[in-house]
Amino acid sequence: MAGSRSPAIGIDLGTTYSCVGVWRNGRVEIIANDQGNRTTSSCVGFKGTERLVGDAAKNEAASNPTNTVFAVKRLIGRRFSDPCVQSDKKLWPFKVIKGNDDRPNIIVDYQGAKKQFAAEEVSAMILTKMKEVAEAFLGCTVKDAVVTVPAYFNDAQRQATKDAGAIAGLNIMRIMDEPTAAAVAYGFDTNEVNSSVKKNLLIFDLGGGTFDVSLLSISNGVIEVKATAGDTHLGGEDFDNRMVKYLVEEFRRKHRKDISSNSRALRRLKTACERVKRILSTTAQTTVNIDCLYEGIDFYSIITRARFEELNVDLFEKCIETVARCHEDAGVDKDNIDVVVLIGGSTRIPKVQQLLKNYFCGKELCKSIHPDEAVAYGAAVHAANLSGQGTEEISNLVLIDVTPLSLGINVLGEITSVIIPRNTPIPTQKSHEYLTIEDFQSVINIKVYEGERVQSKDNNLLGQFKLSGIHPAPKGETKVNVSFKIDSDGILHVSAEEPVSGRKKEITLINREGRLSKEEIDRMVCEAEMYRMEDEQFKNKVLAKNSLEDYTYCLRKFVKDDEVVSKVPGGYVKYVDEAVDKMIEWLKHDVPKDASEYDTKKNELEEMSSTLSRMSL
Ligand code: AMP
Repeated sequence: MAGSRSPAIGIDLGTTYSCVGVWRNGRVEIIANDQGNRTTSSCVGFKGTERLVGDAAKNEAASNPTNTVFAVKRLIGRRFSDPCVQSDKKLWPFKVIKGNDDRPNIIVDYQGAKKQFAAEEVSAMILTKMKEVAEAFLGCTVKDAVVTVPAYFNDAQRQATKDAGAIAGLNIMRIMDEPTAAAVAYGFDTNEVNSSVKKNLLIFDLGGGTFDVSLLSISNGVIEVKATAGDTHLGGEDFDNRMVKYLVEEFRRKHRKDISSNSRALRRLKTACERVKRILSTTAQTTVNIDCLYEGIDFYSIITRARFEELNVDLFEKCIETVARCHEDAGVDKDNIDVVVLIGGSTRIPKVQQLLKNYFCGKELCKSIHPDEAVAYGAAVHAANLSGQGTEEISNLVLIDVTPLSLGINVLGEITSVIIPRNTPIPTQKSHEYLTIEDFQSVINIKVYEGERVQSKDNNLLGQFKLSGIHPAPKGETKVNVSFKIDSDGILHVSAEEPVSGRKKEITLINREGRLSKEEIDRMVCEAEMYRMEDEQFKNKVLAKNSLEDYTYCLRKFVKDDEVVSKVPGGYVKYVDEAVDKMIEWLKHDVPKDASEYDTKKNELEEMSSTLSRMSL
């Protein structure tokens, strides 16, 4: 049971929404935020000196489009030159520029200057918000967390998510795959986790920005991933974007005007499209109706479900192809899949459900676990499992994940020699022996790649290092052992050793290229703390202002009270009345530096109020 340590939480850090859960009193509690919502928008807004995180930022998005940042999950761990980043940035109202080492940096107006943030920093702001949501609920500080990522996230994306956790001041106990978390939720929800009958589950997770399919088996407290497939860049955002593009065209046709470079209009259109998409999940047609969308023109259009499906059918079909690849990889025939579980907000789209059901020859899909909360639920169970804070049922749980992409090194100049094939259970360690390819070669360059292609140029370069001073000998005579180790977070550690000379080199964080350095993370940790303090100051200022405003209006009522007027000398009543009017004016125009000025002014009014009370006795 929970000891004196603060509980470990589970965070589903989603593209559009995030969700936090904790194991408490023998079950998972999904925690509502300060607005009472069980999921929080993964959105950060910058407005003057104010920083808004979560639902408050989303609410301001339409009026503050260029400084409201969302969908950073689509940026994290990617390079600026990545084609996905290039195509996304065209549709985003906020600006993304090329930072150090080809990193995409987000640029916003904040505190009177242009400020750049790495995707990790923005994600850290969202993680901090989720941490605070949990802390408010639990009434204690939270340090430890399990954070989920799509199973198909590569090494760089996982590492960058871990860095975001560090910036948020969290100890990330484990980076967990989202479908595994969903399977845990399913297993606990249905009580099948401890059943001795083995079941094959297919988790179909289509969220806001990512798509994941995993095939898992579940029995006797063991959840084992057999295979995973997906696309870290496919989800509800893409469906919205297709509709935005279509309506931009319609606007051009109807009004002969191009709104595509107006960020405010695009943001408003995108918000409308997301709403329309959701409505179309339950109705056959709906309308887009936006007043003064562009140059005073009101925009009106009818969208049918059929049109929406037509705009996205290739993306939906891509999802089904991925399902086929996943169970084929696992060597499991589709007839042997016992349950197909739907996760992620976009699985509410009827066409997606229909295509999936057809693929499984009419099999009913499991919609019983909450699509928006299941991942956080599973993460909370795993957090309790890792911290030893759960019940016996939790501590007996065993999770076996797999590696989503093949990993290997470059040989013969251009080919990737696979050391760990994709879908290998993790943690794992595998070695391979390589021979020198040149006479008296004294240096070997190890280039590490991930991906499924034969030629290294088509795969993703994770990093490289040199092993020098190796035993010089005719080519093919010196052996170098290369070992790959994947830890439980799915993160890769590589080492190379040449036994004759005894030279050895190890890289723990292989993919430092294009990622944040230790110094940068430390700086961001300090800045995050500074922003947190600034936010706190801002909140205190707002509270102090409200309190002064309330008090001023109460005093106005008090000084106008008939009894007071009849008992207090007219001169003093006039004096207080004027002071109140002056204060109301001052509140309208002046913005003091900190909360204490409001407090001082309130003290002055309090003195007047007590004098009035004394006089009117
Ligand atoms: P998630 O990342 O799992 O939170 O999913 C968020 C995505 O689900 C967003 O793109 C939402 O627009 C989408 N979504 C939520 N509800 C619906 C719905 N009823 N129909 C279609 N898409 C939805």
